[in-house]
Amino acid sequence: MEKENVDQLMNLCSRRGIIIPSFKIYGELAGFYDYGPIGLSIKSNIKSLWRKMFVKEMGNLEIESTIIGYDKVYQASGHVKTFTDPILKCVKCGSTYRADKLLEEFFEKQKNYELAKNVGHMSLDELQGLVSKYNITCPKCKGEFSKITAFNLMMKTEVGPTGGTIGYLRPETAQGVFVDFKELYKSYNFRLPIGIAQEGKVFRNEISPRQILIRMREFSQMELEYFFNPEKADELPLINNQKINDEFLSKKIYLLSREDQAKNEDAKKVSLLEALKLRLIPNKIFAYMVYKESRLLEILGIDEDLARFRILMADELPHYSKGNIDLEIKVNGKYEEVAGNAYRSDFDLSNHSKMSNTDMTVLDDNKGVLPHVIEVSFGLDRLFWAVMSNNLYKDEKRGWEVLMLNKVIQPFQYAVYPLQKDNALIDKSIEAQKILEEKGYSVFYKETGSIGKRYAKADEIGIGKCITIDYNTLDDETVTVRDISDATQIRVKLKDLGN
Ligand code: AMP
Repeated sequence: MEKENVDQLMNLCSRRGIIIPSFKIYGELAGFYDYGPIGLSIKSNIKSLWRKMFVKEMGNLEIESTIIGYDKVYQASGHVKTFTDPILKCVKCGSTYRADKLLEEFFEKQKNYELAKNVGHMSLDELQGLVSKYNITCPKCKGEFSKITAFNLMMKTEVGPTGGTIGYLRPETAQGVFVDFKELYKSYNFRLPIGIAQEGKVFRNEISPRQILIRMREFSQMELEYFFNPEKADELPLINNQKINDEFLSKKIYLLSREDQAKNEDAKKVSLLEALKLRLIPNKIFAYMVYKESRLLEILGIDEDLARFRILMADELPHYSKGNIDLEIKVNGKYEEVAGNAYRSDFDLSNHSKMSNTDMTVLDDNKGVLPHVIEVSFGLDRLFWAVMSNNLYKDEKRGWEVLMLNKVIQPFQYAVYPLQKDNALIDKSIEAQKILEEKGYSVFYKETGSIGKRYAKADEIGIGKCITIDYNTLDDETVTVRDISDATQIRVKLKDLGN
């Protein structure tokens, strides 16, 4: 089976209402997408898998904080000052562009890959220098650009009827966790290390949203803030009172070092143990997070050679970082950041401590400690898109597309189809549906359309197995079970369905 490209995926998504441009009937507003029922179901299943692996299995906590954040929170976190992108405005037609992305595309077209790669790390002055040197004008009207400025990506709002109290729609879920950290410590009396997770909507006023779910203005994150004593960064948590076996360190990943990036080389396959020894990964807790991420990708059906962990270059790091590694997945032939792993030291807790006059230290071995944090921040929509775009195939034999998803994220595990609209077949179908639902499966039911068309629809939206109830079922209580992976059909006893 041949893999489909993103255009074909988008085509399927609109045909089947998997994702829908928001406000479509009013014309689209860039950077906003709605999920239809099938898309939502797959997205929710990915979220549940993340929750299982990053919250429950690790004995972590999960919270839900507010979407609107108080001004002081984002002053303390540094977002008010520094959460910016460089913006270019055309003086003739008023179009705006994210300067680094515009230059990246410009240099890619010129086949100047060295500059295309580097513009993302440049200062405003350096970018401005390139715009002047290469005489870059507005792609739409060839007009001149005004000077590059820094544009803050946070969406601002006012709280209360009299105005004056500034609020921001959160640009990440993490700050809610840091702000609640001390309260949670008091109420739950937890010991270090502990992870506190949050998933939910975040908002960024992206200058140029694009590539459907890759750069949006409203999107979902799944974040884990992992708090630990900095003197114990190589001590893993006990899970259900059990030590984590070091075997996980033998896991191999594709790691892109700074050296590889400087030499334009591909990522190398290394074990987590080697990466730790070479200090490419800062500590064992960080390595454990990388392990969990690569396991997640395996379950999601992303081939290991389509994913790499990229160590950020020194000039990409915030000053407080003790190491950042992005998880990147190839989507439409290009690596996209799907999760950011960041060793944030005590930056956030210490800033909130100062701004709020709250002591954020906690006790560890009877000593007061300001915990350090490793953050694992997934963009849920990007992960969804990476999964969809890497698992949609064209099956020439069947003559249609097949969305090959792992069982745990299929929108429905079963479809039940009566062969014809006949009351006896419909009654048996309802019985089959009940048997499956009682065993905990999600079931899709459809009576109309030829059986071939119903199989095609099931394959396109990733339903695992189709059950057909035909006239033989009425005689011998057996049904046809058809599997999405190879379209093979077997006869199974009705009562054994789902065993
Ligand atoms: P960041 O805080 O910028 O490291 O973002 C964390 C994660 O959120 C990234 O790894 C992406 O998966 C996701 N993300 C960031 N910006 C966007 C966006 N504009 N649209 C969709 N996902 C995003």
